[in-house]
Amino acid sequence: MLGLCYKKNYAAVQKVLERAGYTEITPTASVDTNRHGGRAKCLQRLIRLDMPVPRTLALDFDTVREISLGKLPDIPSILGLFDRPLLSVRPSSEDADWGGPSAILNIGMNNEKHRKLAESHGEDAANALYLRFIRSYAIHVARLDPDEFELTGASDGRALEHALTIYEEETDEYFPQDIGDQLSEVLRSMARAWEGTTARLLREARGAPKDAGLGLVVQEMALGVGKGPSGSGVIQFVNGQSGEREVRGRYMARSQGRDALVDKNEREVIYLAKDERGPSVEDRLPAAYADLMRYGDLCRNRLREEMQIEFTIENEQLHILDAVRVSRSPRANLNIAVALAQDAIISEEEAVMRVPPRSLTEMLHSQVDPNGPRDAIAKGIAASPGAATGKIVFTSRGAQALAAQDEDCILVRRETTPEDIRGMHAAKAVLTERGGITSHAAVIARGLGLPCVVGASSIKLDRKNKVLRTADGRTFAEGEVITIDGSAGEALSGAAEMLEPDLGEAFQTLLSWADNARDIGVRANADTPADAAKARTFAAEGIGLCRTEHMFFEQERLLAMREMIFADTPEDRRAALDRIEPMQRADFIELFEIMSGLPVTIRLFDPPLHEFLPHAREGMVELADALDLAVSDVTRRVEALSEFNPMLGMRGVRLGVTVPEIYDMQARAIFEATIEASKTGAPVVPEIMIPLVSAKREVEIVKSRIDSVAAQVRVERGVKFDYRLGVMVETPRAALRAGEIAQHAAFLSFGTNDLTQMTYGLSRDDAGRFMGQYVSQGVYEEDPFHTLDIDGVGELLQMGAERGRASNPDATLSICGEHGGNPESIAFCRNAGFDYVSCSPFRVPVARLAAAHLAI
Ligand code: PEP
Ligand code: MG
Repeated sequence: MLGLCYKKNYAAVQKVLERAGYTEITPTASVDTNRHGGRAKCLQRLIRLDMPVPRTLALDFDTVREISLGKLPDIPSILGLFDRPLLSVRPSSEDADWGGPSAILNIGMNNEKHRKLAESHGEDAANALYLRFIRSYAIHVARLDPDEFELTGASDGRALEHALTIYEEETDEYFPQDIGDQLSEVLRSMARAWEGTTARLLREARGAPKDAGLGLVVQEMALGVGKGPSGSGVIQFVNGQSGEREVRGRYMARSQGRDALVDKNEREVIYLAKDERGPSVEDRLPAAYADLMRYGDLCRNRLREEMQIEFTIENEQLHILDAVRVSRSPRANLNIAVALAQDAIISEEEAVMRVPPRSLTEMLHSQVDPNGPRDAIAKGIAASPGAATGKIVFTSRGAQALAAQDEDCILVRRETTPEDIRGMHAAKAVLTERGGITSHAAVIARGLGLPCVVGASSIKLDRKNKVLRTADGRTFAEGEVITIDGSAGEALSGAAEMLEPDLGEAFQTLLSWADNARDIGVRANADTPADAAKARTFAAEGIGLCRTEHMFFEQERLLAMREMIFADTPEDRRAALDRIEPMQRADFIELFEIMSGLPVTIRLFDPPLHEFLPHAREGMVELADALDLAVSDVTRRVEALSEFNPMLGMRGVRLGVTVPEIYDMQARAIFEATIEASKTGAPVVPEIMIPLVSAKREVEIVKSRIDSVAAQVRVERGVKFDYRLGVMVETPRAALRAGEIAQHAAFLSFGTNDLTQMTYGLSRDDAGRFMGQYVSQGVYEEDPFHTLDIDGVGELLQMGAERGRASNPDATLSICGEHGGNPESIAFCRNAGFDYVSCSPFRVPVARLAAAHLAI
């Protein structure tokens, strides 16, 4: 060992230290995460587990804060504690994710120790060690330009000379030789670095409170030089990507700290476990290797976590310097939590709590590999997660044509309309220039599980020349390949590297544990049999919203619908509806069969009729052909139906009141499907929902017609069946008048998309244009179409729920807007006493887990 060894009176030293506010980490010392930081606490745990941790001292948050404000650290007392000549200082914040200043090793190194070390361990080792200290001191303490110290040939004496010279030139001072001076400066600079603006902003972005403190840990150095394969390394016992158990890490001779991870000098690498490619710690130092394995097990069983252990071997002696939670992908995190619970190390509930609900999203969809190259060409709103690559197409027809040739394509539109539904089905992802989080493109894409970016207002579509222009002047022609990263809200040029989705057994296991814990229901918004099947895969407890208008976007149905819209007489209309009814009946039978007795809420027809008519001349000509009409007739009709403000016009129940035949047809289809599906499968009690209600009388009118259709079907078929009639609360007035409305409703389902639109007076299809600016200027904290506005819309929900419940205590309460899948909205709905939330099928797992988190 280099330097001198004093025999110390530790008891006396410890007393002095305690008075100064420093704590030596011993098994019994009072060390707390919220006072000394996570690293200090973890080191105490390792010490308690009898691991060979070098002597360590913890400075608490207050002490470090005082140092940052200018108070001098009590250096003599600190140095009084240690025997070994060199020290390290590491940051210890409450949560490791909040970051902190870089660790500084080899404090105490100076010319004299360099000379002694050269004698005992050779020039190379001494040079490397001293040089490393000078570099980190120069960069992190003296704040000199790192480029100046980017030196190679660490063992070269000239490099050391050079570094010392630069230090002196830049600072006009000799490199400090006194360990006390060095340590004092290191502590001061680390304490100050924590208070810097950048560090503060960074940690606040990661969830740290404004007054988050920094602890510091001063530790004796074990050097990693000496006889045999002395060196340092890190070891962990799971794969950080997959979560599978395996020994991973690196060890490097004559290295320190985390060098082994960053140093490119492959010659010095020694494998951990036996390896054909070269020497291993297991071969050369079997006892140390066995100890490492044992410590890994101890961490797992006693710290109840997979840890990465940082260690040094000096003269065949193992030292454990630090241990941190293995950094891991969301998938590995889930797999690790489930494995720990299955091994009875943690409870199932704790495993559930260890998986953040939103982290599941990454497992449900393909993702752009975060480690791959990335060339973003447009930024917009992340409307539907996942990623996909394909050739650009600018029309739905183009998308269908490419899909027919088995080519992947990305549908790029200014915005999408119901006519684009087939194109969206054919595309792998969608990018729109306009629109917000509840625009047509966004809602449909989420339902289909398609990655989607909307409101990418920096791109310009030049449809005439069939090119997309980006803000930086690049053009992408139809047929060029791009990637949509719907999770990040970006379009990337070319085919990005991908990580594929994989649900796996652990995923299902964890969600089944979540289901045991949660106390609010989770249903899916599902419009088609394919959606319903997905909803079942994700174990939704029913369908909370079936938007029936989405069933009409297939060619044949669209035509029948258009015939109905063009009908001049009630008889013609009846005839067109008679053509649609069997199709609807078949849809519902299929839905009921897939859901096998689980509740299915079918919303009666909602959108404005003109949405079913073509907008472009091309489409009008086609329709005129199909219906055997003059183009001018079609154009006239489209014009007659067009409204200044269709979202506030003739849609929802207003259509039901004024053109009642449509709802009559739908009710009949639902009841007949109920009878059919109940014959072979579980009994069905359909839930029929009336959209866009704002007055009690609307409900009365629709209810009496539907009741009479039910009575007719019962008589005609000679079969009894039940059904529940409910109301969608999505206008502010419906929320205010929920008391009287609930008297006629078996359930109230809050449609927060329209409710947000109408509460703010903010178009859900246009808000994307300025939402970015609104959020960045702090006008809105978040996009209210994305994150439920608890203050405003939330108050209406609360009021509606209370008033509805007061007048009809048996009414089922739920939410079915896009917010239904967000953890924060689920918390709100649970507090407001809602029975269930309903969200798109791909968000069901997130909702199930988020609901469990609330109940545990
Ligand atoms: C709503 O308005 O919240 C809703 C679910 O209906 P839609 O999105 O179909 O208008
Ligand atoms: Mg709505």
